This record gives sequence, C-alpha cells and structure tokens, in this order.
Amino acid sequence: MNSRRSAGILLFRRREGRVEVLLAHPGGPFFGRKDLGNWSIPKGEPSPDEVDLELTARREFEEETGHRVPAGPLIDLGAVKQKGGKVVYAWAADGDLDPAMATSNTFSFEWPPFSGRMKIYPEIDRVEWFTPEEARRRIKEAQTPLLDRLDAALATDPGDPPTPGDGGEQDYDPARTSTRLRAVVFDLGGVLIDWNPRHLYRTLFGGNEAAMEDFLSEVCNPEWNARIDAGRPFAEAVEELASRHPDRAYLIHAYRERWGEMLGGVFEGTLAVVRELRGAGVPVYALSNWSAETFALTRSRFPFLDELEGIVISGDVGVGKPDPAIFRNFMARFGLQADEIAFVDDSPANVAAARGLGIEAIHFENAEQVRRDLRRLGFPLAEGGDALRD
Ligand SMILES: [Mg+2]
Repeated sequence: MNSRRSAGILLFRRREGRVEVLLAHPGGPFFGRKDLGNWSIPKGEPSPDEVDLELTARREFEEETGHRVPAGPLIDLGAVKQKGGKVVYAWAADGDLDPAMATSNTFSFEWPPFSGRMKIYPEIDRVEWFTPEEARRRIKEAQTPLLDRLDAALATDPGDPPTPGDGGEQDYDPARTSTRLRAVVFDLGGVLIDWNPRHLYRTLFGGNEAAMEDFLSEVCNPEWNARIDAGRPFAEAVEELASRHPDRAYLIHAYRERWGEMLGGVFEGTLAVVRELRGAGVPVYALSNWSAETFALTRSRFPFLDELEGIVISGDVGVGKPDPAIFRNFMARFGLQADEIAFVDDSPANVAAARGLGIEAIHFENAEQVRRDLRRLGFPLAEGGDALRD
C-alpha cells in the first residue's frame, strides 16, 4: 500500500445563505503558533487493510473530531498533491458540528527534542468554521483546489431550493446532461492557432535546438509567459527579465518586439469543425490564455476569430486557465451553465480544471479525435471530415 496517500472530509454547512467549511488545526509542538496556511481538512493515511479511501476519510474524520460523518451523499472532490508529494483524496459532506464538542485522538512525541520525555498531543488541537474567504487564508495552499471544487459542485448542483421544473432530480445522469449541451468552447493556442515561440527563436538560435530549449525553459519560460497572459504589462515583464539576464537581453526583447513571428498558421482541421458546428447553429466560443496587448494583432492575422460567438482572454480577465475564476467569468459573461458547454483544450491542467467545475472537457490531441468526441456527445458533425475543407 502506498503510504504517500491520505484521505479526508471537507464538512460544509449553510449559514444565512452562505457556505461555511470546517477546517482543522494540527496539534503538536510545531504548529502552535503557525496559523495561516497550516489548516487542513481532517484527514489521514489509510491503514494497511483499507482499500476504499472513502472509508479512510470517514474513519479519520471520526478519529480527529470525535463525530461521525453526517449521513447523506458525499461529494467527490477528487485529489490534490501536497508539496511533499502526498496525494490527498477528499470528499465533501453537508452537516453541522459544534467545534466546542470536537475531540481528537492523540499521538505521543519526544519533546523537547532529545529530552527523553514523551509528551502526548492531540492530532488536531482545534476545529473551526470558516467563510470561504477566510478558509482560503487558513488552509494549506495545496488544498485550496478542494475549496474551489466544492464551490463549483454547489454552484452547479444547488441542494436547496430545488430548481423549478427540475423534477427534483439532482443526481448526475450522463444521458440527461448531454441533452443540455448546447455550445462548444475552444482554446486557441495549440488547438486553433499555431502559436509557438519556437517559430521565432529557431531563427534567432540559428537552429541550435538545445540552446533554444534551454532559453525557453530557463529564461523566457512558460510561467513567465503565463503572467503576461494574465495581465502583467509586457514591457515591464521584458525589462525586469532582461535586467536579470543582461547577456540575453537582446533575445528577451525579441519576445516582445518580434512576437508576431511566433504566430504560425491556423489549424485547418479544427477550424473545419468550428465552421461545421456554426453552420449547424451551434454557438462556438473561445476561452484562451492570451495577453490583451498581443490579441489585437492576433485578431487581425486570424479573421476567423470574428466568426465566433464570443471570446474571453486571460489578459482581459486578469487571471488565466487553469484558475476556475476565468471559467466562471466566461460562463457568467455569456449566460452559460457548466453542463451546457463542451470545452476543448490541449493542456491537461486546463481540462482537469474544467472538469472540476462540471464542464464536459475534451483533451485536444488532433482535429479528428475532437470531431469524434464531439459527435459522441451529440453535436451535429459529419463523420471524419476532410481536414483541408474550407
Ligand atoms: Mg493551448
């Protein structure tokens, strides 16, 4: 059994129309004064005979709070990976608990170090209810996606009151869900537009692939680019990086001055799918990580963008995928619900984030595979279209 796993329960309740979550503060000598960023959902490792991690989560919750997990269906929150590599599996449960009545099991620990004295500490020295904003300040950073996923689950599946005309059926039903799908959202880079810094830097590095790859992973790397996409001023990003790498300044400046040369062509196979959907009356949108500063140029180079129903780029929102906020911004802007859209992206992280919000997400590999997947979801597309048809 892999001991780098852990399972737990995120308890939530509604207070005056707001959701609150119960977090636990670890006991023991190391965490006494550490507060922000150190709280956790009640959780622990599976015992050697535990195969079902949901049972581990229930047992740990009971051991650390002294209360059983309230009856009722659990919401599967998936897994997150903590800094040390441990993977935490989590479920959300709806229910109340009085923190004053919570008691935790204990562990013993030699303290002070090398003193030979064993002291007994509670695994959890206290639990508290927090608003979502406060919970985000307190919880271990790696666990924040669990709060986002609970948000998303409660937003797409309002437990109360039931949606009028919904017949009270709140359970996930793929057949029923697919009939609600009515729009398709495409990522741009790597899916419809061949944007790639290598188109520019292959020229600048004279074909020295190794040196170019080194530059694109060590200097003008994807994380640096992502901050520009999320709204950091392009000029500022270039100046700051160039001041840290004066020997590469000319290459760094080229990132902005010759940015247009990173644009290759359009992926015709995907564009054919887009046009076929639109021809059949399906609204098609784009949701992309793109700097607002370079998007005007992009638009003029790719007139097909004007055919789309709507476009949201990270540069305008101030946050990029895979942050759930940009998906929510997109849905709110166009009045779409998570279960009404199919989303296509070549980044596994973006696909996972969309799924976490209840969106039907397709990982883009090639146009034919996306055509097949969208057909399977019920979208009106011909079988195996000609990639070069226009
Ligand atoms: Mg992409």
